[in-house]
Formats: sequence, C-alpha cells, structure tokens
Amino acid sequence: MSVALQGQPLVEVKNLRHLYGKPSDGELLVLDQVNLALGENEIVGLLGRSGSGKSTLLRSIAGLITPTGGEIDFAKNPDGSGPVAVSMVFQSFALFPWLTVQQNVELGLEAKHVPAETRRKRALAAIDLIGLDGFENAYPKELSGGMRQRVGLARALVVDPDILLMDEPFSALDVLTAETLRTDLLDLWCEGRMQIRSILIVTHNIEEAVLMCDRILVFSSNPGRIISEVRVDLPQPRNRQDPRFRILVDDIYTRMTQRTAGDEARRSDGLFPGVGIGMLLPEISTNALAGLMEAVAAEPFGGKADLPELAAALHYEADELFGVAETLQLMRFAEVEGGDIRLSAAARRYVEADTDARKQLFAQHLLAYVPLAAYIRRELDNDADHELPAARIREELEEMMSPGYAEQTIRAVVAWARYAEAFAYDEGAGLFTLENPS
Ligand code: ADP
Ligand code: MG
Repeated sequence: MSVALQGQPLVEVKNLRHLYGKPSDGELLVLDQVNLALGENEIVGLLGRSGSGKSTLLRSIAGLITPTGGEIDFAKNPDGSGPVAVSMVFQSFALFPWLTVQQNVELGLEAKHVPAETRRKRALAAIDLIGLDGFENAYPKELSGGMRQRVGLARALVVDPDILLMDEPFSALDVLTAETLRTDLLDLWCEGRMQIRSILIVTHNIEEAVLMCDRILVFSSNPGRIISEVRVDLPQPRNRQDPRFRILVDDIYTRMTQRTAGDEARRSDGLFPGVGIGMLLPEISTNALAGLMEAVAAEPFGGKADLPELAAALHYEADELFGVAETLQLMRFAEVEGGDIRLSAAARRYVEADTDARKQLFAQHLLAYVPLAAYIRRELDNDADHELPAARIREELEEMMSPGYAEQTIRAVVAWARYAEAFAYDEGAGLFTLENPS
C-alpha cells in the first residue's frame, strides 16, 4: 500500500495509538496502528472526516500531547545540531490578542532564547515573506481572517522548522481568502523561498488535498487509521478542471466511502460504525437532508447516484455533500458505498410523502438510529416534569468527546428533533422539554 520514499524519512510514525478518557468511565480509541513517514521535499496530505483523530495525530507529532502507544522517530540533522525541527499552524490561528503581529511572530523565538535584535530581524523577514509587510504593529483584531492566518504562518516559519505541520489551516476562512492563501503558500514552496523540507497538512477537503499535495493519506474514523495512499503526479500549479484532477478526486471519494472489515464486523452486530450515545454528530440541516433525498430520487438519478456527479449537479463542495450523505446513511435513509449513494425504501417513501407524514417518518428514524436522540427522548418520557437539563447531556458527552464537539453534537440533535417534533429545547432555560411534541 505504501509508496516508497526517496531517501531517509524526516519523521517516521510507527504503530501510533491514542486513547482519550479514563478506563473507569470508558475510553475512546481515537488512533490505532497509525504508520506514516514524511520524506524530503514533499507535501503530504492527511485526509479524513471530522472527529477521525487528525488533530490528535498532528499534536502527537508536534509533541503537544503524548500518545498512548507507538513511536515517533525524527531524523538527525546532518550538521549534528540535533533532530529535525517541527512547527505547527493551527486552524484557529491561536494568536495572542494583546500582542502585535510582530510580537506574536517573535514569541516562538523568545522561548528559544534568541537575542532581541536577531528576533526582530527574523520576525520582520518572516512577516515580509508571508505578505504582511506594513502590519507589524497591528493587533490581531484589526486584521481579517486571512491576514490572521498569515500571522499564524509567519509565527510557524520564524523558527526555521524542517517540517511544517498544518491543521486545517484554511478551513476557518471564506472560500476566496482560503484559495489566495493556498496559492501564496504553494508559490513560496515551489519557489523554495521557505527553508522547509516537508509539509504535513491535515484537511477534510478532498479538492484542497489534490490541489496541494504530492501524496495523500486517506484516514478512516473509529479509530483513525491510514486506509490508503494516493500519489498526485500533476505538475504545479494544478487546475481543478483538468480531467486528471477530477479522476483523482473521484478516486479518493471512492476510497473514503469504502467500508473496512471492521465496519462489516460492526454491521453484522446490527450497528453502524461509531454508533453510540457518544457519536459525534455533524451539523447538517434537515433541509439539506430532504433536498438530497429529493435530488437522488429524481431523474436522472432515479434512486442511485455517483457522489462526485451529484456534487457537481447540486453545486455542492464534495465534502459538504459527503456529510449530508453520511447523515442519511446513519438514519438509514441511504447507503453510501464505493462512491455511490443509494436511497432506501424509507427515503423513497419520504420523498413521496406530505409535510406531516415526512416529519413522522423522520422522527421514527431519528429515534431509532440516532442513539443520542433516543436517549434524550427516553429521559424526557421518564421524567415527571418531562424536563432534562442540557448541562447533564453536555457533561456526559464531554466524557466521550471534546467540549467543542459536544456542543456541535447537541446543536445537531436539537435541530433534527425540532423538525421531527421529537422533543424541544428551551435555550434560555437550558432544558430539553416535550413542549411541542404530542
Ligand atoms: P479531527 O481533528 O479529525 O476532527 P480530533 O483528533 O480532534 O479529530 O478528535 C478525535 C476524537 O477524539 C473525537 O471524537 C474527539 O471528540 C475526541 N477528542 C479530542 N480531543 C479530546 C480530549 N481532549 N478529550 C477527550 N476526547 C477528545
Ligand atoms: Mg481537527
């Protein structure tokens, strides 16, 4: 499966394994048997769904967390100055609001006890390189999102890392800003203007990966593991309309929807992968779910569609569509496999039904196949006042996922339950109730 590297790897991850939580309250296996190597002069993409453990892997390589098991080996510098250096760019920029651009960039050097004058020179050079000349004394809040991420990039570059780790660096930016920043970064890389020897970029965006990377590692969920590797041999700059580009995107789509043996084993238990009260739910609107069922049911698809074709027809970004399709699969309105989506009989009934019948059908599937929805409903039914504090659910979820994901999961289940009239949520009081439902 693995593509041979040229020469010695700069970093090698071997059999990495990571668990969150304590054995007493149930552990979550996030990474298992992860193996990868970064070679000289390449951009490698790590492509996986939200919650698949990509950030955990990157943080392990950056030394920000200690993985439960496995090894991470760094090559030694030829000049004997120790192992290769690693630096990270975060999705959230992670700037200090009370420091100026220049102070934010210098921060990484202060920790290394670099003298003030050298610090200043190197920071200004990094700021200049990254296109922030003239903004040295600005504060983060005065900058647009794109400029803030440039600061994030300058701060990572100023320490002269050999390896740059990027965790979804463009996903918090609007589409145009993200594209500009990607292009600028690729230009700097192709022209050799950064001293970096290798980049590992995490993304959940297939096109971004094909646009930027020499190699793409496809990451599975539950637990995160590399399931395949794709080499992108197109010259830079790449063109999204190039047929070879489209073929690669389709191919990766197919790989991402392939079921693993583990999935099959879980399915034979009557469960879908990762299902449980602690399953991370995506925020997909019921409009998007209904819209996709209608589109696949209609001509020319007639109940079954090729996902990339469907994405093009509906003007969806590939990855957005993927989230909607997977949610339909979770609720058994569709099967997603080998790059295709096929509607279930229930979905065809849904499409034919009127508004009330649709809501009822959706409620049945929500309560049958989304364990968290069923759990909340059961608690409400059993409570004398038919009330349930949201804080309790949040706490339970936070045992199994990060606070951000817990919040997202609650928002998702609330939106679906509201539509289905399965239960209500009083935001002000922070209570789930049975207000609207009969
Ligand atoms: P990704 O970056 O692919 O979205 P993450 O590595 O952030 O995934 O998270 C993987 C899984 O681990 C998710 O289910 C997430 O909820 C969980 N997780 C992440 N950080 C923590 C943490 N500090 N404590 C407990 N669970 C966590
Ligand atoms: Mg992440």
